[in-house]
Amino acid sequence: MGCNANKVLVEKYVCPNSPSTLSIERVAEAYLPTEWGDFHIAGYRSLTSTEEFVVLYKGELRPDVPSLVRIHSQCLTGDAFGSMKCDCGPQLHRTMEMIEEEGRGAVVYQQQEGRGIGIINKIRAYALQDQGADTVEANERLDLPVDSRDYRQCAEVLFDLGLCKVKVISNNPGKLKALEEAGMEIVERVSLEVESFAPAARYLRTKKEKMGHLLELNSL
Ligand SMILES: [Zn+2]
Repeated sequence: MGCNANKVLVEKYVCPNSPSTLSIERVAEAYLPTEWGDFHIAGYRSLTSTEEFVVLYKGELRPDVPSLVRIHSQCLTGDAFGSMKCDCGPQLHRTMEMIEEEGRGAVVYQQQEGRGIGIINKIRAYALQDQGADTVEANERLDLPVDSRDYRQCAEVLFDLGLCKVKVISNNPGKLKALEEAGMEIVERVSLEVESFAPAARYLRTKKEKMGHLLELNSL
């Protein structure tokens, strides 16, 4: 690359580690100015399930330039309603700000609410938490998996955008491992510590102690 700049500009970048056929396809794309920056938004469909993915991205994304990325798992209560039970909303918005500041990057929004259990079960789990259970205990009591998320297709979305080397904004070792296993080169892990509210303290401690999240939690 680079020796023929004009050709490169019109070529779609492909990461050499990308699977030759992807199990997702881009079906729609538009421009999306937001409170946290100006992005492109694209919609993807899984070719193997009914799952859909949304990605917000900006800047020139190419395999040779390490770019900020995040796989953000949908959290209706935190992302849209400003729930104080978790830190998802502030994490999403901080990520968008960081990508805006950097001028390039992507957030894959994975629509697996409540770590894959769905919004109704998540509300049921919240009810158990109201009675004293922590996040993990609540799911166990409902006989639901603590985490059933699969990130393989999120990695494919990043490959489709032309990415190869990534600086991953995440505290979740599971997401880092999944991206690595999918063939993404993780150049850096960018930790994300956002201010959390008192009701989120127990949730975050459970994330750190029972789910292996890489959190400092100095303020808690
Ligand atoms: Zn949340």
